[in-house]
Amino acid sequence: MQIQLYNTLTRAKDTFEPLQPGQVGMYTCGPTVYGYASIGNMRAYIFADTLRRMLEFNGLKVKMVMNITDVGHLVSDEDEGEDKMLVTARREQKSPWEIAAYYADVFFKDGEKLCIKRPTVVAWATKHIAEMIAMVEELLERGYAYETSDGIYFDISKYPEYGRLSGLKLEEQKAGARVEVNVEKRHPADFALWKKAPKEHIMQWPSPWGMGYPGWHIECSAMGRKYLGDLFDIHTGGADHIPVHHENEIAQTAACTGEPPARFWLHNEFLLVDGGKMSKSLGNVYTISDLEERGFEPLSYRYFCHNAHYRRQLNFTWSALEAAQKGLLSLRRSVQQSAKQSAPAAAAAKAAEYRQAFLAAINDDLNLPRAIAIVWEASRDELGNEFFALAQEWDQVLGLNLASGAIEEDRSLTEEELPDEVLALVKKRAAARAAKNWAESDALRQQLQEMGYMVQDTAQGTVIKRV
Ligand code: AMP
Ligand code: ZN
Repeated sequence: MQIQLYNTLTRAKDTFEPLQPGQVGMYTCGPTVYGYASIGNMRAYIFADTLRRMLEFNGLKVKMVMNITDVGHLVSDEDEGEDKMLVTARREQKSPWEIAAYYADVFFKDGEKLCIKRPTVVAWATKHIAEMIAMVEELLERGYAYETSDGIYFDISKYPEYGRLSGLKLEEQKAGARVEVNVEKRHPADFALWKKAPKEHIMQWPSPWGMGYPGWHIECSAMGRKYLGDLFDIHTGGADHIPVHHENEIAQTAACTGEPPARFWLHNEFLLVDGGKMSKSLGNVYTISDLEERGFEPLSYRYFCHNAHYRRQLNFTWSALEAAQKGLLSLRRSVQQSAKQSAPAAAAAKAAEYRQAFLAAINDDLNLPRAIAIVWEASRDELGNEFFALAQEWDQVLGLNLASGAIEEDRSLTEEELPDEVLALVKKRAAARAAKNWAESDALRQQLQEMGYMVQDTAQGTVIKRV
């Protein structure tokens, strides 16, 4: 069956055919490992992983490359400010290498909890300095770059197609650029390929231009080319990468090879929290650990993401996650119950139709909301253990542990999670118990039970769970 993917480069859903039959080369922009990845970041990796799984489900062999940015990503994407790694290193009084190793480790552990498969190649920026220097030299030789007192810059005026991905014209970018601080740059949107390092800069390497460190964008051009060749099939990243990071990556690679590095550019939209941007000042930059601390299974978040198309913004709230967790557990229950059932005569034919519909949904630009709706529809049909077989198959794409994952929520709710009227009853019951008024305490327990809350008195105190 054909695969259609929305390509940011052509602004259309294009039919996807791999360059080499049966094989896909895919590059995913990885994390900057200077802090914990937020659930917003993890949306980007759930998307890339699900895309990879969909391609594999179609029988394609996927070589997935992901970079780890451990140098060069400055506080502002426009080559200003300090390296993000150094800011954290100073705050935590560790070396940038320790910082990178620690946060990358947490990133991959979070990935495992979300059933994100490990990329085929994980490429660390600091281990590819030689490849980056070689590419900067090539850009200089070809006349696409120039040297200033503080580094080597890409000259975007030499690449007339600059702006093709974002649809922004050079002039608009010039007008939109912030107050220029670097007077040596020929154009405000020219970007650093290499930065010359002051003596005290911790991360620096020898280069033909003295000691220094790479710009952020060159790593993806150099490492994509090294592992996937001059032209590969798919490049992914978050929508924020379109106007700067990916535009720059395309310019760098095309200046060397004559064309953008990938044929398909796929971008996930952002995750919002409570309708707005996540921000440290609002205290809502949640991580997978935050979800776990509140008693959520990480895969509830993966399920939550599947319920929105990747090209739509998605709004995270705790109550939406709660609903997602309920949905996932109930789906698993129905899958696991179906394992023991026998299949009616008509089940095989119906299963074939569902199979077809599911494949059509995921192959239509990864329409996961439609795929999930089909799974639910099949769960309500009379398929017996045919449904179990289908769910196991589909889980290769969904990654939700449908056949073996937990089916009960097993956590005590916190006071903050209880609706006011429930909390009031819980407190009233505690007072009744303290007064040894067992009849009232039992009546209140019964009332709470009817409202959907189970109350247990344990040695550690009262535990309240959802029924
Ligand atoms: P960074 O570590 O900042 O380079 O970001 C890692 C990935 O997360 C990139 O692909 C970003 O585009 C993506 N990203 C950052 N914030 C969000 C968000 N709120 N929602 C979805 N993706 C995001
Ligand atoms: Zn990148």
